[in-house]
Amino acid sequence: MKLTFLGTGTSMGVPVAGGFGPRFSGRDPRNQRYRCSAWIQSADRSLVIDAGPEFRLQTLRAGIRRIDALMITHEHTDHIAGLDDLRAYNYAQKKPIPVYTTQRTEEAIRHRFSYMFSPDKTPGSVDLDFRPFNEPVHEGDCTIVPLPVKHGGMEVMGFRVNDISYITDVNHIPDETAEKIRGSEILVMSGLRWSPPHPTHYTIPQAMEVSEKLDVGQTYLIHMSPFVDHEEVSKRLPSRVKLAFDQLEVSV
Ligand SMILES: [Zn+2]
Ligand SMILES: [Zn+2]
Repeated sequence: MKLTFLGTGTSMGVPVAGGFGPRFSGRDPRNQRYRCSAWIQSADRSLVIDAGPEFRLQTLRAGIRRIDALMITHEHTDHIAGLDDLRAYNYAQKKPIPVYTTQRTEEAIRHRFSYMFSPDKTPGSVDLDFRPFNEPVHEGDCTIVPLPVKHGGMEVMGFRVNDISYITDVNHIPDETAEKIRGSEILVMSGLRWSPPHPTHYTIPQAMEVSEKLDVGQTYLIHMSPFVDHEEVSKRLPSRVKLAFDQLEVSV
């Protein structure tokens, strides 16, 4: 199994539009972060998590030639704005793309992108096959386990794919979900910034504390703000926790 980080930035991307804010980004490419997305490849499946505003650029940069299924964590714009560009895969693969997500996220997407789903939908618009799920499903040699977590008042779906667990936009992990994550070789989890605390996201120190309790191999942090300088913050982390960066590839 191979995990590729397609994007590791918080909702506005890093740096933000207009280039405002801290300017760590100049020298270190690890401080330039597209919106969060990941690509998981097994022997017979190519799975993508989330399709944000840079989805097209991410597929080109990583060389994604096939998508067997998409998993969507939640309907915030930074995780779904690129859905329209899945058309290219519909044309190439000549069939709808299975989408694993929650019932609520499916409804929100149908509302936001109504032109894709109306009875008189524009010919050639994207063709998605929603599969809301609460129980593990099998996709070829992958078992996908839903990992519901809290993002403030909103429930966000994380996913465990074999030994890789991926949760983003989280500030609370219920005990039942923690049990499902336990024993993963890799945990991907969001850590917005070092401080101050945020109402809907773990800070990096909070994410470190949570990962320690989960008994996982290596933890990679994502969804980082412009105030996280890769090199400087990495020095403060224990070896079992690393900051991910765009285009990082990890094999399991
Ligand atoms: Zn987000
Ligand atoms: Zn969010």
